[in-house]
Amino acid sequence: MILHHIALNVPVSDGLFTYRHPTALPAGCRVAVPFRGKTVAGVVWASGVESSIAVEKILPVQTAFTEEARLPERWLELVGFVARYYHYPTGQTVFAALPAGLKEPKPVEMPQPPLFYALNQSGRVQTPPPQRFHKKHALWQALFSDGLEMAALKRIHPQAPKLVQEWAARGWIQALNAAAPKLNPSEHMPNAAQQAASQAVQAACSTFQPFLLYGITGSGKTEVYFDVMAEVLAAGRQVLFLLPEINLTPQLLKRVRARFAGVPAAVLHSQTAAGRRTQDYLRALLGQARLVIGTRLAVFTPLPELGLIVVDEEHDGSFKQDNELRYQARDLAVWRAKQSGCPIVLGSATPSLESWHKAQSGAYRLLELPQRAHTAARPPQVEILNTGRLKLDNGFSPQALKLLQQNYRQGGMSLVYLNRRGFAPALFCGDCGHVSGCPRCSAKMVLHQRARQLRCHHCDYRSPIPYKCPECGNQDLTAVGQGTQRVEETLRALMPEAAIARVDRDSTAHQHNWADLYRRIADNGIDVLVGTQMLAKGHDFARLNLVVVLNADGSLYSADFRAPERLFAELMQVSGRAGRAQTAGKVLIQTRLPEHPVFAAVKAQNYPAFAEAELAGRELLQMPPFAFQTAIRADAAEVADAMDFLNDIKSVTEPFIGADVSVFGPAPMFMVRLAERERAQVFLESADRRSLHRAVSLWVQVLQQYRDSKIRWSVDVDPAEM
Ligand code: ADP
Ligand code: ZN
Repeated sequence: MILHHIALNVPVSDGLFTYRHPTALPAGCRVAVPFRGKTVAGVVWASGVESSIAVEKILPVQTAFTEEARLPERWLELVGFVARYYHYPTGQTVFAALPAGLKEPKPVEMPQPPLFYALNQSGRVQTPPPQRFHKKHALWQALFSDGLEMAALKRIHPQAPKLVQEWAARGWIQALNAAAPKLNPSEHMPNAAQQAASQAVQAACSTFQPFLLYGITGSGKTEVYFDVMAEVLAAGRQVLFLLPEINLTPQLLKRVRARFAGVPAAVLHSQTAAGRRTQDYLRALLGQARLVIGTRLAVFTPLPELGLIVVDEEHDGSFKQDNELRYQARDLAVWRAKQSGCPIVLGSATPSLESWHKAQSGAYRLLELPQRAHTAARPPQVEILNTGRLKLDNGFSPQALKLLQQNYRQGGMSLVYLNRRGFAPALFCGDCGHVSGCPRCSAKMVLHQRARQLRCHHCDYRSPIPYKCPECGNQDLTAVGQGTQRVEETLRALMPEAAIARVDRDSTAHQHNWADLYRRIADNGIDVLVGTQMLAKGHDFARLNLVVVLNADGSLYSADFRAPERLFAELMQVSGRAGRAQTAGKVLIQTRLPEHPVFAAVKAQNYPAFAEAELAGRELLQMPPFAFQTAIRADAAEVADAMDFLNDIKSVTEPFIGADVSVFGPAPMFMVRLAERERAQVFLESADRRSLHRAVSLWVQVLQQYRDSKIRWSVDVDPAEM
């Protein structure tokens, strides 16, 4: 009998349990095992292990899915690293990195290698279908290639399967198991900066080298990624392209398809159906998918022939998962590039200060695209408007309203940007001062007029709009502050003839709403867009030439030292929307804190100056990236219990914590209540990563012994929020 360590998805110690099997099972093999009376899925972590438990007490593996492709060794190494680095149980880390289909104690079907269709010798000499059946004609033309997958052919003609079958029956078609990857040339001649960037990365192929591609919005970063990707794909290696969910737009996928038509690709994001995701994951593992495009979770996709990683918008907060396994996909991507010995390109118009610092210190190579790629496109003109002493009309300054009207009359398209969904942030009683708050969180409820609801944007608690104040009975409740719905209404009153569209998570809950809206914009059917963050990113609206930013400061009042960095990125991104094509853009930013350095930097459109000043401040205060942090959080029904719990652990661990590690707190969190739990946290900080890691390990050991069912705790390594 051979003993194995099997990783299970259970929150018990490290999640590795010993099972026996008559033969040695290879690491990475999926199995079904009995666990506490149930059959659960497991992954072989190690075989031939020793155990102090009596052999007869060790349970047998029920089924080993040896027919399936194993999870590769490099993948197991990655998971092992993640578990150690983030202080997360190995078993649960394994399962966090797997798609749903592989988490079940059932065998999965392995995807069949794709077939590529093309015209054969006798097909090539036939008369093509007449031009007037233009889809059929196009399909025929496409079959002149080196081979296309059925999915690609279906995009040309929905009836492709039937037609190809008919033509095959006449002996005109050949089906191949592999196609020479079909790479179309770019529609643009790369400019000098693009060429230099692309060549620098290509020169590093087959070696680990991180690059930071810094280029303003519209400078042609995507073209550089594509250029390098084409090279790596042609060399027969796989490419991983990570991007924020919000940027995974139909336009981007269209660009990818246009350029990499015949390259078997997989798109992995949170909305991909589970079955599809499992199949795509396996296709990548088997080397059938050559290009994997996805959001943060795609960083765990096994890629045996990985030759390049691209992380677009590398500064984006969505690369960090903020629950359960709190990983940072961009950082893991760098680790994977190192493991695979391949280059990685991190791209952004406003790089994270962590990456910028690494580029300054030489750990990353900096590549720059200093100009917009369209020669005609000019950077926007930014005006900062102090609204401190102005009387605002529903959040709008007189200047903003005038600009919007003017631009509409002159046929321009405007964007009104604010970072808040709903009609108004809160419902307020003028008599007693009552503000509608979430009963489960320390947050205000947001008024959603059309749905006739109050909603908590933190826990999604919903309640009908009260018709009178719950405290004093006053029936005259007022909406305070601006939300997208209210701004939309104000604009409708101001410009009744203009076509106004609102874009936020409420209005674009469905993918087709988005596609529809995008079509209207492209057809010049929209004069004013009102929107949140969703609009700030990745969309290229040629006619947009005016951006008005309402109340920019919200976050600057928070305690989070990263607030200015985030606001800067957001404002640069949204101002980059203005004037992407021939027309020069204008940006008006309303603020009550016009002296804040963030605004001067946005006005000057100067990231390097902003980064330098911020980094100097961080260095002075020994904040990241000059020091490393880990947050240890606890939550309980009452914050006092969470505080006591953390204080206990602190006093137990204190004598063993090195002098180069500082322990701050515990303190209640800024937003104490969340979904009926109250939260407190401790920060461990050190300039030395290893010392910090040791201190966190010590904390975790003690936390695991202090089991208290009323208290939940979590570890957040490199936390993104304070
Ligand atoms: P980024 O990713 O930096 O925002 P993109 O790669 O999306 O920039 O390019 C912005 C726009 O400029 C796109 O419309 C793109 O087609 C165009 N573009 C990119 N490179 C060139 C070039 N060398 N010449 C002309 N236009 C270009
Ligand atoms: Zn809530």
